[in-house]
Amino acid sequence: MGKTCISCGMPLNNKEDFGIETEMGPLCKYCINEDGSVKACAEIFTGGVKFFMDAIPGTDKELAERITRKNMSIQPYWQGKEEECLKGDQATDEEFQEALAKL
Ligand SMILES: [Zn+2]
Repeated sequence: MGKTCISCGMPLNNKEDFGIETEMGPLCKYCINEDGSVKACAEIFTGGVKFFMDAIPGTDKELAERITRKNMSIQPYWQGKEEECLKGDQATDEEFQEALAKL
């Protein structure tokens, strides 16, 4: 199994998607700032919502937000962090699997 971003779960099979390596694991270039620091939760969340709406036709904002919240909540980087943007309804396992299958 290939490596995935510890913040957003993006597969890092392509070198150009890779951002930085941390003690916890790798991060994709979309989750970090130019200086190599990790972007704010809300910023990564917003990017995730846009990604799922664009990537899966017919996904409305409400569902995209719940999918993104679920996706980020299971990634290693966000474990044990109390982030406001990750609080709220999450997609069900079924909705989440269905979404991933369409990517
Ligand atoms: Zn990422």
